[in-house]
Amino acid sequence: MARIKKGDTVTVLSGKNKGKTGKILQVWPGEGRALVERLNLSKHYERRSQQNPAGGIVERESPIAISKLALACPKCQKPVRVGYSTSETSGKQRICRSCGGSL
Ligand SMILES: [Zn+2]
Repeated sequence: MARIKKGDTVTVLSGKNKGKTGKILQVWPGEGRALVERLNLSKHYERRSQQNPAGGIVERESPIAISKLALACPKCQKPVRVGYSTSETSGKQRICRSCGGSL
């Protein structure tokens, strides 16, 4: 099981986006990278198209190393250590080591 997955809310631990929080849009576990919503933006120049009639500069997310990301617990409102618990009803679950809630 990957440490983080699509839809998770994560906090950046280091680098220029340190302390920022966002939602995982995509994960490449093999490369150890993930795309986080509205984080690590870089500018791209685009031609006029139907999706982007004005053309010009658009900002797009660039992948961030997963090692720089930590899962944020919605209850604790901060990056937390992740543990796992196994139950017969719900299988393997990720839990917050701080408050014990499931993530
Ligand atoms: Zn928690």
